[in-house]
Amino acid sequence: MNAAFTTGKELQKMDPVFGQLSFDDHEQIVFCNDKDTGLKAIIGIHNSVMGPALGGTRMFNYANEWDALNDVLRLSRGMTFKSAITGLNIGGGKAVIIGDAKTQKTPELMRKFGEFVHSLSGRYITAEDVGMETADMDLVRDVTPYVTGISESRGGAGNPSPITAYGVYLGMKAAAKQQFGSDVLSGKKVLVQGIGHVGESLVDYLSKEGAIVTIADINEEKLAEVSSKYQAQIYRGEDVYTADVDIYAPCAMGATINNDTVYKINAKVIAGAANNQLADENVHGAILQERGILYAPDFLINAGGIINVYAELAHYGKEEIMRKTENIYNTTLEIFDFATANNLTTHHAALTIAQNRINQRKIENSTK
Ligand code: NAD
Repeated sequence: MNAAFTTGKELQKMDPVFGQLSFDDHEQIVFCNDKDTGLKAIIGIHNSVMGPALGGTRMFNYANEWDALNDVLRLSRGMTFKSAITGLNIGGGKAVIIGDAKTQKTPELMRKFGEFVHSLSGRYITAEDVGMETADMDLVRDVTPYVTGISESRGGAGNPSPITAYGVYLGMKAAAKQQFGSDVLSGKKVLVQGIGHVGESLVDYLSKEGAIVTIADINEEKLAEVSSKYQAQIYRGEDVYTADVDIYAPCAMGATINNDTVYKINAKVIAGAANNQLADENVHGAILQERGILYAPDFLINAGGIINVYAELAHYGKEEIMRKTENIYNTTLEIFDFATANNLTTHHAALTIAQNRINQRKIENSTK
């Protein structure tokens, strides 16, 4: 398994697809192009042993197409392990649309994207990710049934972000219990980096429990709004990674734990919503461990969203969504124990358990 974050420039020196550092035996990668709507998208199906590949669509203004490809490879792989560790009968997939969600997203573009999803006949089922709203999934639903995260009025489970935030909050509490001896977050200093759909909801949970919350974001308007709503401090220092906090919650983009930041982090716990927080899972997880920083694996604690959208396929209701999400607390503690017992980083402990489940299912599938 290889999942290091690599820049577009570095990638250009390699084979275009199967030689990518982030390529990890993905089953299928689909490039989608439509001149009329300006759609340029990539769908990545990483693994379908556990079931059809389910994962959100991200719309982002990537610096170049290599970065977009790298992102979809990493994100779709992450979904495979997220669903396996959570015990859901689905595989891992993800899609990226190249472009600015604020200025380039149109109903025509979303429907065209839906047609490409439909062409895969259910091998990939989409949902929302960064740059997407429930209303966008409703547009995709106009042309294909292979979409989740649609409005409740159309039979969907609605916006998954608050459930994701709840799972992250519980995973953070489990990590606090492991690291500080108590899961009480009241009085703990928590930095939430990225106060979008998930980050703001996490701030809400933390404030209600009495944590001392600091927020960081590139969107000044949002900072002012969230700060006044929850009495959260805005981080105004030079370098957010050096912030004097107990817990760091990455809730913006991935790879924030990298060569530049990993030795600066002062927090004793890292627990957040962002996907692929470790730039290189084989390097940065181990450095965190050496530094005595407890890392709650991202794909484990941010699974609330997938639990929520999967409900639309498995036909379970809110009660079961909450039960499965609440289970994140116990699973996180189990992973910490497994990591200690087997001398693994917490990230590799979670990967190992997820991979074992996939291997087991593969055997079952082959004997059916
Ligand atoms: P979002 O787009 O609503 O919010 C992201 C926020 O991060 C925005 O406010 C943005 O301004 C901010 N941001 C971007 N770059 C930043 C930077 N360099 N520094 C500080 N802030 C920055 O996205 P979201 O839905 O809240 O998702 C956040 C993260 O959680 C993403 O990585 C996403 O993949 C992951 N995630 C989301 C869900 C979900 O249910 N929405 C589920 C699982 C994982």
